[in-house]
Amino acid sequence: MTHLLNADLHCHSVVSDGTLTPEVLAQRAKANGVELWSLTDHDEIGGQDRAIAAAQAAGLPYLTGAEISVTFAGVTVHIVGLGFDHTEPALVEGLRQTRGGREQRARDMSDDLARVGIPGVYEGALKYVGNPELISRSHFARYLVEIGVCQETNEVFRKYITEGKPGFVPHRWATLRNAVGWITDAGGVAVIAHPGRYPFTANEEYALFTEFKALGGQGVEVVTGAHGPADYVKYADYCHEFDLVASRGSDFHSPEESHTDLGQLPDLPGKVTPVWALLADRVHG
Ligand code: AMP
Ligand code: MN
Ligand code: MN
Ligand code: MN
Repeated sequence: MTHLLNADLHCHSVVSDGTLTPEVLAQRAKANGVELWSLTDHDEIGGQDRAIAAAQAAGLPYLTGAEISVTFAGVTVHIVGLGFDHTEPALVEGLRQTRGGREQRARDMSDDLARVGIPGVYEGALKYVGNPELISRSHFARYLVEIGVCQETNEVFRKYITEGKPGFVPHRWATLRNAVGWITDAGGVAVIAHPGRYPFTANEEYALFTEFKALGGQGVEVVTGAHGPADYVKYADYCHEFDLVASRGSDFHSPEESHTDLGQLPDLPGKVTPVWALLADRVHG
C-alpha cells in the first residue's frame, strides 16, 4: 500500500462520543475519498462489527480500531489501537474495565456543576449518549451548549469540565502498559494519538515516547485534526528518533463540531513509514 493513501484511521461514532452511526460514517468516508478507514471509538469496540459490515458494503478497506484512555504521569493520554482481533478476550475485558468508572465520574461532574449553579447536567447529557457504558465529557459539552451556558462545545472545554474548571473530576484510566499490551497481544499496532495535544514538558514527552516504545508501541499520529504543520514536522522527526511508524486520522466526531472531516487531511510527510505498511494482512475488504 502506497505512502500517499488517503487513510483515515481515527474517528468516533455514537458508540462513543461521535454523533453519526458507524454506517453513516462508512458512507461519509467513502464519499470523501477515504481509501483505508478505521472507527476508533473511545474505550469501546462495540461498533466494530457494524463498521466492518458497512465498510464492506461501501467497498472501503477497513482496519479494526479503538482509542484507549490511559493515565501517564498524571495526564490523560490516548492510545489508538489498529488492526487487532476485536474478539480477543483480554482486550474485550480490558476495555470493559476502562469504561467502568465513567458512570460515577459523570455523576460527580454533574454534582460539581450543580455547586456552581448548573443543575441536572447528568440527566441532560444522557440525552446525547448513544451507549450507556460510554458517557463522556463530549456529551456534557453538548448539553451545556443546548441550555445556553456556552455557544459551542470548544467554549465548554475552555470554561468547564477541564482541569482546574468547574465540573472537572480527575480520573484514573488504564495504564500505558496495559493499553499497549491489550492491543499488541491481539495482533494490532499501538499508536500514540495526537501527541501535540498533551500538556507535557519536553522531558515528560520524551519519557512517554521512551516508555511507549519499550512496552511494544509501534506508531505515532503525525497527521491528525489537532496538529498543524509544525507538529507534522516534529512528530515525523520523532518517527525516526524512536523508530516508529506514522499514522493519519481526522479524529472526526460530528459535522457540527469537527473542523476536519473524514479524509480531509494533508498527506503524511515524506520519509516516514506509514502504519498501514505493518497492517496489510489485517485489512478487511
Ligand atoms: P472523556 O473521554 O470523557 O474525558 O472525553 C474526552 C473527549 O472530549 C475527547 O475525546 C474529545 O472528543 C472531547 N474534547 C476534549 N477536549 C476538547 C476540546 N478542547 N474541544 C472539543 N472537544 C474536546
Ligand atoms: Mn472524543
Ligand atoms: Mn483523543
Ligand atoms: Mn479521538
